[in-house]
Amino acid sequence: MQIKNSCTVTYSPAYTIVPTYECFNRCTYCNFRTEPGQSPWMTLSAAERVLQRLQGENICEILILSGEVHPHSSKRQAWFQQIYDLCELALAMGFLPHTNAGPLSFDEMRKLKNVNVSMGLMLEQLTPALLHTVHRHAPSKLPEVRLQQLQWAGELQIPFTTGLLLGIGETPDDCWETLEAISRLHQNYRHIQEVILQPHSPGNQQSFDAPAFDPHQLPEVIAKARKILPPDITIQIPPNLVKDDRWLLACIKAGARDLGGIGPKDEVNPDYPHIQEQALREILQPVGWQLIPRLPVYPQFDGWLSGELQKAVRQWRKISSRTN
Ligand code: SF4
Repeated sequence: MQIKNSCTVTYSPAYTIVPTYECFNRCTYCNFRTEPGQSPWMTLSAAERVLQRLQGENICEILILSGEVHPHSSKRQAWFQQIYDLCELALAMGFLPHTNAGPLSFDEMRKLKNVNVSMGLMLEQLTPALLHTVHRHAPSKLPEVRLQQLQWAGELQIPFTTGLLLGIGETPDDCWETLEAISRLHQNYRHIQEVILQPHSPGNQQSFDAPAFDPHQLPEVIAKARKILPPDITIQIPPNLVKDDRWLLACIKAGARDLGGIGPKDEVNPDYPHIQEQALREILQPVGWQLIPRLPVYPQFDGWLSGELQKAVRQWRKISSRTN
């Protein structure tokens, strides 16, 4: 694993596997979901074929990103098992899984900890006002449900990524309050490795009729977030949603130090192709920023992982130290 210095920006060489696009929530800004029952779930054998193709391509992280099956649905157990099996398969094939599948029960989180080096869940925004607008038909976006996930992750010692969606109807104060809530939880458990600041970027599928969050405001939000969040939490921004190179550099200058998972497709924002590694280097290097790959788990959390996961992580850290 790389040693970070002040001129370093990281990214995770990643591939996203989607067990299912179906989701019982209907967030109006969503460009990902399908109606429950209307799209087939990914089979293990299809996933195995994809993963075989990725072997030897220096991809480390497999992001298991799923639409949600209602906690009381008769399909919940099969859905959870599918996610677990996909993580186990990815791990057995030499990758490091990171799951983001919406709110889970404590027991589901505890089980997934065995097959994930880290996990994630966006807080989006905690203001209950959004329950009357973009989250009106999204029961799992209840602020207390999502905060509880962060607390459980801390209790279970799961290295965790969370984040805010910007420009969905929140006020600036709402935004600072959400960051303060993350900060408080982290001070209790020290388990948040990254906070993503994701600007709302309209896509073809969504019904939410609002302009994109002005990326030119991002540096200001990042600078304020940097003051609110403890220094051991990295701020991540998705570079494909910050199209202007100068402003991407301004975001980094303001305190963002990670560009997230870079792979063939941004499943959450399919209308915005990822900028690939070489193109990012060409933006960053001329002004002195070095882009380096990272693992989906930060070194300070290795000790929280099971022996088997630690072994897999050690192998990747060896590869990283040879190539960086
Ligand atoms: S944003 Fe996530 S939770 Fe909301 S509808 Fe889309 S997939 Fe479901």
